[in-house]
Amino acid sequence: MIDLRSDTLTKPTAGMLAAMMAAAVGDDVYGEDPTVNELEARVADRFGKDAALFVPTGTMANQIAVRIHCRPQDEVLLEASNHIYLWEAGAPAALSGVTLRTIPGRSGVLTVADLEPHLHPDDMHSVRSRLVCLENTHNRGGGCVYPLATIAEVSAWARANGLATHLDGARLWNAEVASGVGPREWARHFDTLMVSFSKGLGAPAGSALVGPKELIAHGRRVRKLFGGAMRQVGFLAAACLYGMDRQFARLADDHANAKLLADAVRDVPGLTLSAGAVETNLVWADVAPELGTAKAVAGRLKEAGVLAAALGTNVIRFVTHLDVSRADCERAAAAVRALAP
Ligand SMILES: *Cc1c(COP(=O)(O)O)cnc(C)c1O
Repeated sequence: MIDLRSDTLTKPTAGMLAAMMAAAVGDDVYGEDPTVNELEARVADRFGKDAALFVPTGTMANQIAVRIHCRPQDEVLLEASNHIYLWEAGAPAALSGVTLRTIPGRSGVLTVADLEPHLHPDDMHSVRSRLVCLENTHNRGGGCVYPLATIAEVSAWARANGLATHLDGARLWNAEVASGVGPREWARHFDTLMVSFSKGLGAPAGSALVGPKELIAHGRRVRKLFGGAMRQVGFLAAACLYGMDRQFARLADDHANAKLLADAVRDVPGLTLSAGAVETNLVWADVAPELGTAKAVAGRLKEAGVLAAALGTNVIRFVTHLDVSRADCERAAAAVRALAP
């Protein structure tokens, strides 16, 4: 089976496993895990921020950010298909007493003009607008790279209006490789950002929340509250360091493989690329009724040895990652072309 359902399905490479086995560890709740400390210092420096906090999941990193930036009765402004809204189980309401203002964008991108009408006046009847969350690359938006100039404008607007900013950068690595824009260039527009090691970089678990010292210290208390303070997790941090150092540059291969699949999608009447273009490792396609449901299409692909994710009645997603080769993707592309009526 060629498994293109997600870039979270990868197994640690032999090199990564060796790095994990060799990790020096200690109790991270005591601040005594040298590998976690190294990872946090390296990640903070990479993004040009004071501090970083290692957490088990991207969801926890995002939800700690919501919690440290907001108080109950506050509101977060975000694009309607952001992960924080769609796929984090209603956590902002449940964990932080915060409402989300979801604003439809284009391929996940919001501009100042989209956000501006949703800013609440300072009035006791209203929720308090408090935080803007952007996502880069945008998952549901088709893996698009958020234009840096738009990010700069949104960030300046947020600051001028007293709003904090957070970036969901689960796939910021992919945005860096696809755009050539470096980590600090992206990060400087945000108060906090999160990155995930468990997607394209291939670690079995792990994300980090990155930002100023005081906010990350607060985040450390919230991590404990949310049950995410772990002990000898240098074993995982070693995998994350290995992914950053050794499995980052190869993301370009994933992007090239995704373009191959996108070309196949374009050749099939009844399949349309959701975002119009494919810039990174995600290929989202809309399925027209003449091809059947997304589930039916995924079923036919499975018979041909290819697993894709049916996400909704008429949307299908292919994701390239380090456990699928160029040859795998060529075979998958042939299976996609064979869907043509
Ligand atoms: C996967 C993902 C997350 C959450 O990461 P988990 O580790 O699965 O909790 C957050 N944001 C985006 C954009 C993602 O794709």
